[in-house]
Amino acid sequence: MYLSKLFIPITKDLPAEAKIKSHQLMLRTGMIKQSSAGIYSWLPLGFKVMKKIEQIVREEQNSIGAQEMLMPTIQSSEIWKESGRYDDYGEEMLRIKDRQGREMLYGPTNEELITDVFRSSIKSYKSLPQLLYHIQWKFRDEIRPRFGVMRCKEFYMKDAYSFDLSDEDAKKSYNKMFYSYLKTFNRLGLKAIPMAADTGPIGGDLSHEFIILAETGESKIYADKNIFEIDLTQYKLNDASLKKMRGDFTKIYAVTDEKYKKEDFDKNVKKENQMTTKGIEVGHIFYFSDKYSKPMNCLIDDQNGKKNSVKMGSYGIGVSRLVGATIEANYNNNVMKWPKSISPFDVVIIPSISKNNKENFEKGVQIYQNLKKQNIDVLLDDVDENMSNKFKKHDLIGIPYQIIIGSKSDGDKFEFKELNSKSELLSLEKIKSKLKI
Ligand code: ATP
Ligand code: MG
Repeated sequence: MYLSKLFIPITKDLPAEAKIKSHQLMLRTGMIKQSSAGIYSWLPLGFKVMKKIEQIVREEQNSIGAQEMLMPTIQSSEIWKESGRYDDYGEEMLRIKDRQGREMLYGPTNEELITDVFRSSIKSYKSLPQLLYHIQWKFRDEIRPRFGVMRCKEFYMKDAYSFDLSDEDAKKSYNKMFYSYLKTFNRLGLKAIPMAADTGPIGGDLSHEFIILAETGESKIYADKNIFEIDLTQYKLNDASLKKMRGDFTKIYAVTDEKYKKEDFDKNVKKENQMTTKGIEVGHIFYFSDKYSKPMNCLIDDQNGKKNSVKMGSYGIGVSRLVGATIEANYNNNVMKWPKSISPFDVVIIPSISKNNKENFEKGVQIYQNLKKQNIDVLLDDVDENMSNKFKKHDLIGIPYQIIIGSKSDGDKFEFKELNSKSELLSLEKIKSKLKI
């Protein structure tokens, strides 16, 4: 892609409510455009990043055997009346009537709908366990939408649901999801801490939030640094290994301010390992047993032909929130650097362009074509402006690698720079091998 052709409406004027870096940056680089309070259009640059995140989430769900499906955004009120949540959910739920006057709603979450899908088709323990997920827009009429895509009304979420016969089996499903979440956040280049959490309106007795570190986060965090030393690759996808994994993570001290007590922190964590910081919730998992299956009469025959309410858990990741959260975690000194796995482009070529020097630009085009043939997703900055403005712009867009063609280029060697590091003079072959790491 040539930068001049890319739909990337860079702006300098920011609305006053854009208080945090990710919100400012996403507006400035034209990743999103607000349509009304808490509702955004995703423009090409932002959409590309979100789709890359979605794909990593999907791959890690599939890798634990979860199956993808798609439920609608609009739901009927009836199933919510069955579960008892229609009245409880309150004003966050957007309620709508169709032309026949039927009460509908825009789904804020899908426990009821998936239970309805499940009860109509699965009747026997022989079909269990099941793990189903979808990635779909949700709507919550948040009282105070803020921080751009981090707390908005319409947002994109991966939500998964597990179905098991016993509590014991259900916890195995829970551990699989716990594992897949940690792997997902690792691949996104994020340090995530699982923390025991309250279950809130979803209910149940076992729940963890996954929180990534960022100074602008909404939650204050007190944790033992050793939590980042646990190597995920030591665990295997089997029940015993994953049980051990959850134990290893949860025995390390990590709490949000609601549960923080100074005595506990000092007792459990050595001074030099104490970490006090802020974080953003990017995922939340729950085990709530028969909270929905019981009132909704979702029954399964066990080995003896006895009917049991199926045991369920639900597992959410905020896919659209992760775009903002990744920026918060990686933005430093006016430079944004995307993790390689989700960067909107792999590399940008920045030739120094002037009226009497076409050579740099032509070299840039050659390199561009060469890299494209290797399936490297490359952006060529063909805009006619001075290098210092170009660098400022690319510090904001955040593509992690740059090939600079200008006064320092030497024959077939070009400046190759990783954002936030020094550049080096390399041949195209060397550059290619670096980009493929
Ligand atoms: P929060 O405490 O932040 O309101 P929640 O507990 O209501 O989150 P869940 O219902 O567990 O969230 O939803 C799963 C995930 O969806 C959250 O971890 C978060 O990443 C994302 N999410 C929830 N609400 C919003 C929102 N208003 N805007 C963007 N993402 C959201
Ligand atoms: Mg909420």
